[in-house]
Amino acid sequence: MDSFILHGAVLFSEDVRELKEYDDAYVVCADGVCQGVYEEIPGEFSDLPVEDFWDKLIIPGLADLHTHAPQYTFRGLYGDMELLEWLDRVTFPEEMRYDDMDYAARAYDLFVEDLFTGATTRAAIFATKHTDATLLLMDMLEETGLVTLVGKVNMDRGVPHGYCETTGESVSETLRWLEEVRSRGYRNTSPILTPRFTPTCTDELMKQLGDLSGRYGLPVQSHLSENLDEISLVSRLCPDTRFYGESYDRFGLFGTQGKTIMAHCVWSGEEEIELMLKNGVYIAHCAQSNMRIRSGAAPVSLYLDKGMHVGLGSDTAGGAELSIFSAMRDAVLSSNLRWRLYDRDVRQISFPEAFYMATLGGGAFFGKTGTFKKGYEFDAVVLDDDNIQTLYPASPAERAERLMYLADDRHVVGKYVRGCKLY
Ligand SMILES: [Zn+2]
Repeated sequence: MDSFILHGAVLFSEDVRELKEYDDAYVVCADGVCQGVYEEIPGEFSDLPVEDFWDKLIIPGLADLHTHAPQYTFRGLYGDMELLEWLDRVTFPEEMRYDDMDYAARAYDLFVEDLFTGATTRAAIFATKHTDATLLLMDMLEETGLVTLVGKVNMDRGVPHGYCETTGESVSETLRWLEEVRSRGYRNTSPILTPRFTPTCTDELMKQLGDLSGRYGLPVQSHLSENLDEISLVSRLCPDTRFYGESYDRFGLFGTQGKTIMAHCVWSGEEEIELMLKNGVYIAHCAQSNMRIRSGAAPVSLYLDKGMHVGLGSDTAGGAELSIFSAMRDAVLSSNLRWRLYDRDVRQISFPEAFYMATLGGGAFFGKTGTFKKGYEFDAVVLDDDNIQTLYPASPAERAERLMYLADDRHVVGKYVRGCKLY
């Protein structure tokens, strides 16, 4: 953790609706913690080294609240199926391959490299059921300096033979995984309990994972109310629940014991929404995945207006891109279509809201991060948009909005996580 000052154009979220922008300012980092943004360097920081990025754009690091590392191999393919068919025909067969450590090493290397070179500084990641390959992925992520939460996936039903675990195996492998993670002493990489979703987890497995979450205070990630056929399946599998979220909540896997991320929430009803609000569940909004595998368009502004925790997820390979800029763009576009086509009660989301979800909204899951306000952990990315040739004058917020449509990894020229410079 270092102390330094970055100079350039600066943009960050003050709150869900308000952006703060500066054409020319200094962002101060002391021992890994942001000390605020200033137009002139305050005397107390005058001894710190200044890194000058001139008119390049400096923003907080982006958070990816939901992605599947093993599915990255087939990104950009298979946008012609719905969730349950897509899992059976494409996803489970591919994830089974991570039993082979050589394959896992080569495939995860590509995922980790792309996560490193993009604008994401924090991510919550699904691995596969394989403990050893999951540990390998965690080793590789730790090397990058990114802050990540990684889950060995649990599933003891509804998965093809050869990829399914027994309940006992699932629990004992989870314990072995947690023990091994502890012994490796990672600084930036942590475990997150990952029951894949209710259709692949028996009540007994959920119960035992709930006990583990309570015993070790572990965070949880899973999927919720993504697809209509999936929701019908859950209501058949769990006839004693009133809504999908209860299938997690009754085992303490819905925000009451450890911080919890639920991906999608496209079709959540009133009771489910109220329970998420009450329990402080984080919603990972994955608009591209929801469009690609035909799940729908989540009512995101409704969640934001209720004051719920909402971040963005790339959800590769339901989504095709790891970029959280793309996730911002698709969040805006899908909210436009939802409003236009069938729901005038749920308004479109604005660019400041998309930027908030990508930074402070999702960042909050990892602690105090995602903005340049004083006291927040210092994550930043530096963006060079010189190659977007235009005569149109743009403010820092407009430059970021333009990058939401046009950015790729080439635009990311600097990255800092917890006050450490990665490049
Ligand atoms: Zn997912």
